[in-house]
Amino acid sequence: MGIGKGKHAVVVGAGLCGSLAAVMLARRGYRVTVLERRGDLRKLAGSAGRSINLALSTRGIRALAAVGLDQAVLATTLPMAGRRMHALDGTLSFQPYGQPGQAIRSVSRRLLNETLLDAAEAEPAVALRFGCRVEDLDLDAPAVVVQGDDGREERIEADLILGADGIFSAVRGRLMRQDRFDYEQLYLEHGYKELELQPTAGGDFAMDPGALHIWPRRDYMLIGLPNQDRSFTMTLFARWEGPDSFAEAGEGAQAAAWFAERFPDAAALLPDLLEQWQRNPTSSLATIRCHPFHHGGKVALIGDAAHAVVPFYGQGMNAAFESARLLVETLDAHDGDTNAALPAFTARRKADADAIRQLALDNFVEMRANVADPRFLLRRRLGRLLEAEAGEHFRPLYSLVTFSNLPYDLALRLGRARERWLDGFLGAEGAAPPDDAALSALARRLAEQLRDGSAPAAVRNPDEEKGTDDEKSAGEPAGAAQERP
Ligand SMILES: Cc1cc2nc3c(=O)[nH]c(=O)nc-3n(C[C@H](O)[C@H](O)[C@H](O)COP(=O)(O)OP(=O)(O)OC[C@H]3O[C@@H](n4cnc5c(N)ncnc54)[C@H](O)[C@@H]3O)c2cc1C
Repeated sequence: MGIGKGKHAVVVGAGLCGSLAAVMLARRGYRVTVLERRGDLRKLAGSAGRSINLALSTRGIRALAAVGLDQAVLATTLPMAGRRMHALDGTLSFQPYGQPGQAIRSVSRRLLNETLLDAAEAEPAVALRFGCRVEDLDLDAPAVVVQGDDGREERIEADLILGADGIFSAVRGRLMRQDRFDYEQLYLEHGYKELELQPTAGGDFAMDPGALHIWPRRDYMLIGLPNQDRSFTMTLFARWEGPDSFAEAGEGAQAAAWFAERFPDAAALLPDLLEQWQRNPTSSLATIRCHPFHHGGKVALIGDAAHAVVPFYGQGMNAAFESARLLVETLDAHDGDTNAALPAFTARRKADADAIRQLALDNFVEMRANVADPRFLLRRRLGRLLEAEAGEHFRPLYSLVTFSNLPYDLALRLGRARERWLDGFLGAEGAAPPDDAALSALARRLAEQLRDGSAPAAVRNPDEEKGTDDEKSAGEPAGAAQERP
C-alpha cells in the first residue's frame, strides 16, 4: 500500500506506541524518522529503568498482528488466567478472568520495546535517531525542533508528525498553546513502588505463575506479575499521605515492618525487602485527558500522549497500540489524506479514550476492595456462568474490555447495563445469596432470554459487538473485525 509514498513522517518517541506506528507507516510508503530522547534501549546494559512487566491482551495483540509480530511477542509472554487473591491470613482464592483458555499475558516492557525497535529498524524507510529530544514544534510547517545530546538544535520538516512521546508529551505541550485545545491532568492520591521477588533457591517460581496475584486491602494493594526469568514484579499501590500510606510506612526497618504486617506471606518471600524499599523509587500515577488528538492535517497524538490512564485495567499499552492501529487504518480509509483522516481519528477515538480512562479509575476500587466483596463476587460468578451458557450472546464488562476489540465506549455502556441487569436478580443487599444450583438455573434462564431476544435491548449485543472477537481474531488481517464506522 502506498498512501505515504513521497511523504515524510516524524514520529516523536520510540517507546511502545511510537516504534509500532513507525513500522505501520513505513509499510504504507512513508519515509519515517523516529526521534527518541533517550539512548537506544537495546544497547543499554542493566535494567534501563525497571524490569517492569505489563499485561498484554486482545487489543494489543491485534495491533501487533497487524505488523506480523503477534506470534513472536506471544512466545515471550506468560498467560495469567485469573486473579490469585491473598487474604491477610494467607488464605488463597482464585477468580478466573474469563472462560477456560482465556488469559491476559505478562510481557516484559523492555523485551517488547526491543522487539518493536528491531522491527522498525528492519524497515528500510525508517531512521531511528536516539538522544534527540523534541523541544518544540512549528505546527504550520509542520516541523519539529530537536535538541541533540550535544546541545545542538535542529529543525526537521515533515508532512505528518505523530506525538507518541508519552504522558508528559512535548508534542501535546505545543498543542496546548493552541486555541480551543482541552487538557486535564489528574494525579492519583496513590503512588506505587516496585519490588522484585526472586525465584526460589531451586530456581522455580515462588508463587503460581499462571495468575496475577493481588493482595487487596481496601485502600491499598499489592500485585505481582510473573516474569520469564521466574521472578515476579510486585507493585505496591498506596496513598502518599494519611493512614496506610507511603508516608506512614516511612523508611528502613519501620517500612519493612509496615509491609510485613500487611502482606505477611509476600514479606516472607522478599528477604531483601529493606534494601529494595530504600533503593526503588516511589512513583506517581496520573491520568491525562485532552481534545482534539490532532492539529489540522499535520499533527496527531497517539498512546499516552493522547490518553494516559492509570494502570488498573491493564489497558494503557493496549489502548496505545489500538490507537496506533486505528490511526493508520483511518489514514488508509482516506487514501492518505491527512486533512480528512486526522479529524476522523479524533472523532472515532475520543469517546473510547474517555471510557478507558473511567474504566481504569473504577477498576482500582474493584481490585483493592470489591474483589473481596461477596456481592461483587456473586455477580462475577453469575456473569461467568451466563457467558458459558449464552456464548456469543453475553460477555461481561471485563471480557468486553479485555478479550474483545469492541470500542471501549460501547464496551463500557454495554458492560455496565449488563451489571445492573444481573444485580436485579441477586436480591436485596444483605439477602441470603442463591446457592450454586439456583445460580446455575438463573444463568440458564437469562441465557434463554438473551437467545430468544426477550432480554432488555440494553443488555443484548449491539451490531458492533459481532466480529469483535477475542484472541482468535488477533491474527486476522487488520480491519477484519467489525468496529464502529
Ligand atoms: C506501573 C504501571 C503499570 C502499567 N501496567 C500496564 C499493563 O499491565 N498493561 C498495559 O496495557 N499498560 C500498562 N501500563 C501503561 C503503559 O505503560 C503505557 O500506556 C504505555 O507505555 C504507553 O506507551 P507510549 O508509547 O504511549 O508511551 P511511552 O511508553 O511512555 O513512550 C514514550 C517515549 O517517548 C519518549 N519521549 C518523551 N518525550 C520525548 C521528547 N520530548 N522527545 C523525544 N522523545 C521523547 C520517551 O523517552 C519514551 O521512549 C502501566 C503503566 C504503569 C506506570
